[in-house]
Amino acid sequence: MSECRQPPRLVLLGKQGAGKGTQAARLADHYGAAHLSTGELFRAQAASGTAFGLEAKRYMDAGDLVPDEIVLGVVEECLAPGGPLGDGFILDGFPRTLPQASALDGLLGSHGLDLVIDLEVPREIVLDRIAGRRVCENCQRVYHVNSPPTVNWTCDTCGGEVKQRDDDTEEAVERRLTLYDQETVPIIEYYRERGLLTVVDGVGEGDEVFERLVKVVDDRIHA
Ligand SMILES: [Zn+2]
Repeated sequence: MSECRQPPRLVLLGKQGAGKGTQAARLADHYGAAHLSTGELFRAQAASGTAFGLEAKRYMDAGDLVPDEIVLGVVEECLAPGGPLGDGFILDGFPRTLPQASALDGLLGSHGLDLVIDLEVPREIVLDRIAGRRVCENCQRVYHVNSPPTVNWTCDTCGGEVKQRDDDTEEAVERRLTLYDQETVPIIEYYRERGLLTVVDGVGEGDEVFERLVKVVDDRIHA
């Protein structure tokens, strides 16, 4: 991190499996900003058994997008006064629809977003990444059918059971990708029209992609 400056307010867009969760966490670390991932919030709430969380999980397991009003409620809570608004944030998994994008503008008021990044990865690559993904039930470490744990789907880190998530089957992934195209592509146009959008190539090693992301963010916030 270089000289003192306001941490950025970013939205990271991309298909599920584009690697945006990992990259968003790294960017948050790098810039000292909060990482707000709606997917993780939903899973955490489902695991603790709240009615709201279980409802969100039901949509996710079916490969459906979580309805706007549920998503907005969570994000509004996250961005409430005293939250990360003043310190910058990386939004990951939100907004996904035009109503969500325009509601976010309303929440942010006059100091809006600095940049919206579309992390671009072809459909066939994300399909292989997600449908082949296996996750430790206990510590959430992520494996792939091509790089499994050493011993019989037992986690190398914690000994937990490594299995496919309910919402990672090929059928569920295909449905989500189609929904993504239908619902999220219009918000790419929305942000392009406002001069906020930049597209970053998400294919390659994680470090390589991270460097591309830092470059576009630095170019924007130093401009
Ligand atoms: Zn584990």
